[in-house]
Amino acid sequence: MAEMTRFDLLVVGGGSGGIATAARAAMHGAKVALAEPRELGGTCVNRGCVPKKAMWYGAEIAQMIRWAPDYGFTVEQNGFDWRQLKAARNRYIQNIHGFYQRYLEGLNITHLRGYASFIGPKQMRVGDIEVEAEHIVLAPGGRPARPKIPGSELGITSDEFFELDEQPGKVLVVGSGYIAVELAGVLNSLGSEVSLAVRKEQILRSFDPLLGETLMAQMQQDGIQVYTLHVPQWVKQENGKLTVCFQTGPESCEQYQGFDTVIWAIGREPATGDLNLAVTGVKVDGRGYIPVDDYQNTNVPGIYAVGDVTGRAQLTPVAIAAGRRLARRLFNGEAGLHLDYSLIPTVVFSHPPIGTVGMSEPEAVARFGENSVKTYTSSFTPMLSALTRHPQPARMKLVCRIDPDAPEDTSRQKVVGLHVIGTGADEMLQGFAVAIGMGATKADFDNTIAIHPTAAEEFVTMK
Ligand code: NDP
Repeated sequence: MAEMTRFDLLVVGGGSGGIATAARAAMHGAKVALAEPRELGGTCVNRGCVPKKAMWYGAEIAQMIRWAPDYGFTVEQNGFDWRQLKAARNRYIQNIHGFYQRYLEGLNITHLRGYASFIGPKQMRVGDIEVEAEHIVLAPGGRPARPKIPGSELGITSDEFFELDEQPGKVLVVGSGYIAVELAGVLNSLGSEVSLAVRKEQILRSFDPLLGETLMAQMQQDGIQVYTLHVPQWVKQENGKLTVCFQTGPESCEQYQGFDTVIWAIGREPATGDLNLAVTGVKVDGRGYIPVDDYQNTNVPGIYAVGDVTGRAQLTPVAIAAGRRLARRLFNGEAGLHLDYSLIPTVVFSHPPIGTVGMSEPEAVARFGENSVKTYTSSFTPMLSALTRHPQPARMKLVCRIDPDAPEDTSRQKVVGLHVIGTGADEMLQGFAVAIGMGATKADFDNTIAIHPTAAEEFVTMK
């Protein structure tokens, strides 16, 4: 029988959430092991945020080249080398791997290279090692979902998108969330012929409607063929090209042919398959996610979950923040510490990008009632594209909770949501998130001196 190695903490998953939890626990003196069979960094570093942002920068540069002649430059795009961008991206990611490896070593965290599987209430097997820990944090993340339709294996997901060695010529992206709009935008800007098939009438339906409506119109303007109310039914391969059939009404179906690549971007699933959770009694919900309370506790004492596997706000900084707080609670005596999941700022790296924090207008109205919500909006063309033949809109919205007894008193209008689509939205949001987190009112925004000429200044000059 293999000898059991004991730790204070075993973290399952070496993504952003797992590494942050392990590191913070080790900083507080815990003896920590981290199980990760693949590259360190998880989805974000290897198959998500980081390579996506590199592609987004590439797409933004392509856009600048198209706009440059209107600024007087004699330039033309004579080609684009997908492999070169991929190689640069991979070098950047390899540096992150090296950094993480040194970081874990520096903190004396034992890196176990294998899938972890429960063999007892607090025991797990990782490869051929058996480990026991007083505290176990599950942070295995998730993987992209595929529709359960014939031929879905002929399409790829975001995981395989980042492995592509060649730029696909004609692409169909299926889905309507973050990944669908980001990948459709990147491919379109880099020169692929892109179609986007959306199951309902709108994209980004969980965001304030202003954002999805504006982005969809811009995507169409930029040449993306958007099909709404299209539900995928099957995929076939004929002569090396893909045909996809969609249900487009109660009795109607339509086929679209000639795609080199079909990308499924229809959401993600929790990666709990290898954990053997049944041994522990840790419950999962109907979709397979591991529910946790405010303190990341599962239903089994001593077993916790952080990150995408919990199904809550599947964003890297959320996993990191939750994991660090958990480690401080467990190993630094900060008993009441936990993450506040409200007011999470997030950016969609579309073209133009989107930034959003807090409640959408429909959410605020549902929560406070129509008479207790006031919105302020702004719509304009930022100067950068206004000087070109490719004007791009910017749209902004502040959602405020008003005091019904003093509706016009802006010092009693608390800002509960801020939404923006437009150039610079990605870098604009963070500071506003701080202000809103501190309870800023509309009067606080009004009392802030504008920075001119910027797009962000619109948020402090809205009437
Ligand atoms: P999302 O949950 O954002 O969107 C997926 C959408 O696809 C669903 O909301 C649904 O929209 C649609 N859909 C679901 N099933 C089907 C189906 N069978 N056929 C067609 N459409 C379907 O998932 P993503 O995969 O885009 O991203 C996963 C998560 O990763 C995000 O929620 C986000 O948390 C994170 N992420 C964050 C990024 C960032 O911070 N910039 C970037 C990328 C991902 P509808 O109901 O409208 O049809």
